[in-house]
Amino acid sequence: MNDTLCKFAWSGATSTIINTFRPCCRFPLDENNQYPTTEQVINQGESAFNNSFLTKLRKDMLQGIPRNECKKCYVEEQSNMKSMRQKANELLLAKASDIMFENLEFLEISLDNLCNLECRMCSSRFSTKLQARDKHLQKNRIVGYSDNTVNYKTLELMDSLDLSHLRMIKLLGGEPLISPNLLKFLDKVPNPHAVNLLIITNATTIPSSKILDKLKEFKSVKFDFSIDGIYSYNDYQRVGSKFETIISNALELAKLLPEEHSIHSVYSSLNLLGLEASTKWFSENLPFRTTVDIVKNNILSPFIAPNWYVDAILNSISDKNPHRSFVQNMFDQYHNFDENQWYEFMKFVKITDEMYKTDINTVNPIIGEALVKYYTNPQD
Ligand code: SF4
Ligand code: SF4
Repeated sequence: MNDTLCKFAWSGATSTIINTFRPCCRFPLDENNQYPTTEQVINQGESAFNNSFLTKLRKDMLQGIPRNECKKCYVEEQSNMKSMRQKANELLLAKASDIMFENLEFLEISLDNLCNLECRMCSSRFSTKLQARDKHLQKNRIVGYSDNTVNYKTLELMDSLDLSHLRMIKLLGGEPLISPNLLKFLDKVPNPHAVNLLIITNATTIPSSKILDKLKEFKSVKFDFSIDGIYSYNDYQRVGSKFETIISNALELAKLLPEEHSIHSVYSSLNLLGLEASTKWFSENLPFRTTVDIVKNNILSPFIAPNWYVDAILNSISDKNPHRSFVQNMFDQYHNFDENQWYEFMKFVKITDEMYKTDINTVNPIIGEALVKYYTNPQD
């Protein structure tokens, strides 16, 4: 098997918030309308996954041609991490011998966008709770924000696919554990005993015993707890989340459904200076593996930051930290200072601090100082 081939392209489907399907979550939203739409999948079933974009992708992978969309997997592999591509190739049974879709083995899907948090790096596309904030940011002319409403057709879709080959479902929200659609969705899976379920959760909720009983029918249930650092690093970025509570809930869920659960931390310009202390604390205090990711596609991304801030970030992570080379490689690959976007970020911090009555200085005095300078002399 060559270094670019990934079985997600033959047996995976990942829904997007704009009602299309991509091979995995690392593919961007569909700016060029190249992915099959939810409507096409509902009408045509799996054959919708044989459109020209996806057959070309498989052809490139078979020929060993690197794809721009897959860069992050290549960075992980260069950083001696097991990439998502390598994990997919271990899990899935697809033969990947020609350009046609095989069987649906992996499904990544959102139930809806009902959520109980207002995470700063998120948007109202994913969380109903963020509608007021996004409306406010739009009113203040912060580029890229508007009050979104989203229409998911997840349950309808489940009825139009052949789910009998499923090996893994990755379930997202909103917050899946509070969704009224959770049980209805789980009931549609024909062979739960053959399916590994991965649930991305903000750990704010312990589900009812009815849901827990249903979950126990699955081959395995793993939680990926979204916790963006320790204490205020998490609580500042994930508005409405309380670090002590979610850690206690995560441990309780791990007791109710024993498995190899994990913590997934998303780092933005707000909390990346907390990576060193947070990853150390997690490894010393919790029985979970930790993975990290860095915001890439909005103004909270550190990849648009000026060099002095990037230096401060990289200097804050010790050479011994297991995530150090990943962070360095990501900056090498994606960093590109964008002055206009950086100033939009400054405005975002000020407006959201006023809105939530928070203070960036409590979590990131370096950004706090930059903010004072910017508002004293915006041209500096
Ligand atoms: S190589 Fe990586 S980015 Fe590309 S389809 Fe596979 S998992 Fe997704
Ligand atoms: S918990 Fe997830 S969906 Fe909800 S606001 Fe946070 S990032 Fe968005």
